[in-house]
Formats: sequence, C-alpha cells, structure tokens
Amino acid sequence: MLLTKIDPCHRAWVEVNPAAIEANTKIIRNLISKRCLLMAVVKADGYGHGAATVANAALRGGAQSLGVATLQEGISLRESEISCSILVLGNLTNSEELGACIDWNLTPTINSEKESFLCNKLAHERDKRINVHVKVDTGMTRLGCGIKEAPHLIRLIDELSNLSVEGIYSHLAMADGDLKDQSAQITAMQKQKFQNLLINISNRSEPICTHIANSAGTLRDTTLHFDMVRVGLALYGYSPIYEEEGKTFGLQPALSVKARITFIRDVPPGTGVSYGYKYVTDTPRRLAVVGIGYADGVARSLSDKISVLINGQFWPQVGAITMDQLLIDITNSSSIEVGDIVTLLGSDGKEAITANDWSKKIDSIPWEILCSFKYRLPRVLI
Ligand SMILES: *Cc1c(COP(=O)(O)O)cnc(C)c1O
Repeated sequence: MLLTKIDPCHRAWVEVNPAAIEANTKIIRNLISKRCLLMAVVKADGYGHGAATVANAALRGGAQSLGVATLQEGISLRESEISCSILVLGNLTNSEELGACIDWNLTPTINSEKESFLCNKLAHERDKRINVHVKVDTGMTRLGCGIKEAPHLIRLIDELSNLSVEGIYSHLAMADGDLKDQSAQITAMQKQKFQNLLINISNRSEPICTHIANSAGTLRDTTLHFDMVRVGLALYGYSPIYEEEGKTFGLQPALSVKARITFIRDVPPGTGVSYGYKYVTDTPRRLAVVGIGYADGVARSLSDKISVLINGQFWPQVGAITMDQLLIDITNSSSIEVGDIVTLLGSDGKEAITANDWSKKIDSIPWEILCSFKYRLPRVLI
C-alpha cells in the first residue's frame, strides 16, 4: 500500500524518500567505471521500501537493470510497468514458474543442467530465444553450479537452441566481514575462482556479462566490479562496511519509521510497567504509549534497549514492547502531547536513529531490520 501523504488516522507508518535512493544510486554510479553496469537489487519489496518506488528511483539515478529474489517480485514490477531487464536471483525449479518467468520477460538464473533443459524446452514451446544468467558457486555454498561443472554447463547451454548465456555470476559470502579475520582471504579466493572460470571459457565467441559484487564488494574493492555490480543495501543508504571502516560514502537512509503517542500517564514509584513488569519505576515517572509494536516490525527483543525521538530529543523506551504498542518514558517533558509524532527510525532535528543502531542491540544486521516492517504500516512517500 502506497500513500502520498500522512493521514491523521494513522497510528504508525513508514516514510520512504525516493530522492535519497536516487542520490545513493548516483553515488554508487560514480564509484564504478562508466562501462560497468549497475543492477539495483529490489528483492523483498525493495528491502521494505516498496519495490516499484525503489526501482524507479534507482533507474533515474543511473541503474540499468533490477534484481529480485522471486518470480512474484518480478511479475509485480512488470505490473507496475517497469520494462528494464529484471534478473530473478532465486532459482525457479518447475515448469509453471519458469514458464511464467519467460512469459513475463524476466531473466532466469540457471544453476544446473536440469534447469537449463527445462528452460530451453519451455522457451522452445513459446517459440522464443531467451537470455539467461548462469550462477556459479565460488564459496557461498548456497545456489550455483559447482565451479568445476560450470564450463561444461555453459557450453551445454550455448548449444541449446532457445537459450543464450547473457551473464555468468557468483555471490560473495563475506565481503562485508571484518578485514582482520579471514574475510579478505575468502573474498580473494572467490574472486580468483571466478576469474579462473572466465579464463577457462574465454574461447567462447558470445559476449557475456560477468558479476560477483554485492554492496560490500562494490564499495570495498573495484577489482570485484567486473561487468556489473548488484547493489542492494547501499541503495537504501547503508554502508555494509561502515562498522569496519567508518565510511558512509555520503549514503543517506531512505526509510523512517514513525508513530503517534496515543496516551500519557503519570505513575508513582514502584509501578510495574507492561507485560512481565520488566521495568518498575523507582521515582515518579511520566509514561507515554506509542501506537506501534512487534506486529508492525519493532522486534520485541529491542525492549528496554532503544530510544525514540520526539521534536529532536531522545526518550528511552521502557518495559516489554507489545504486539501493537510500546511505552516510552517522557518524565520532565511538559510539552509532549497525545497525537505527537514519534520517530523510531530516521532523523528528527539534529539527531538520527539508524538500522545499524538497532541491529547492534539485538545481534541483527541492517538488512534484516529494514525488511522487518510489516504491511500494517502504510508506506508514505516523502
Ligand atoms: C541480495 C543480493 C544482493 C545484494 O546484496 P546487498 O548486500 O544488499 O548489496 C546481490 N546479489 C545477490 C545474489 C543477492 O541475493
């Protein structure tokens, strides 16, 4: 659900700033060479920002193509009249899915001989010749054909009448890892395996688009860029190597989470607050109820660990976060009223709360925080 303005009936909502996504895309565009292509990864509904919104902003910012995880995600972009090339990063295993992928003009990823034969048969039945990208496992150990089998698979697809290999790609397992541990070595090993494969198939006459880098690989090492980079997190304003290198590259978060105060109460010392009385007041406190909870995506494990912003000032969250509501301590504030807007994530005045701040408190990652907000929260474009 996408709305254009904040409705006073909303107790809580997600604000998305497409201009920030466009600006982030331009920053990434400037970090890669002119001939390197940029794929905007908009899976999981554009990491919770709204896939079509993100796709359009990224295309304006200089991305050439889109990446999605599922068939449905690709179809819904086509339904939003997005016509650029869209690669389905997940594997489609049966005729129904692969057939629909072809019918909707989405590019499938091929991981095996079996998938390539099926895809060829389906393309043949439709009297089409379609582009595919072959995925190779260089060390992620998730999807992708084995590196040893890859040259054979590529030659086999080259001989199939209805498929052409447009791209070959792999995925990095720890490009965002701590450089002091093994992550740099593992990434170098993955790059080496990928390069060796490309040498091995260099006698093919067909041009091919090679790609391996996610946001971390893109930001960290230009030698990982190859012909295209597949960028997700950085588009949304987060640097996956920030913790390690402190660099934000000027990226700005595009998503904020806001809610309204629905009730205010003054309580005496010794008052147990919320389920389980995890918080008991020691002095007289003023508490405010905020209309957002874990059913909206504010993880219960954040209870008693976060602060929120109201009019540019921090206030601590107290007691257990409940399904639909949470409490904050606003003692010593006389100006806060029912209906006031609370910023849970995002900036307010000079202060800001980021997905990194939350992820550090609950052993999560900014990717998970961003795509945790449920569709009970309307997305409002600003
Ligand atoms: C999600 C994903 C990406 C993007 O990763 P980020 O770290 O968000 O940039 C790139 N490639 C593949 C295969 C993915 O699944």
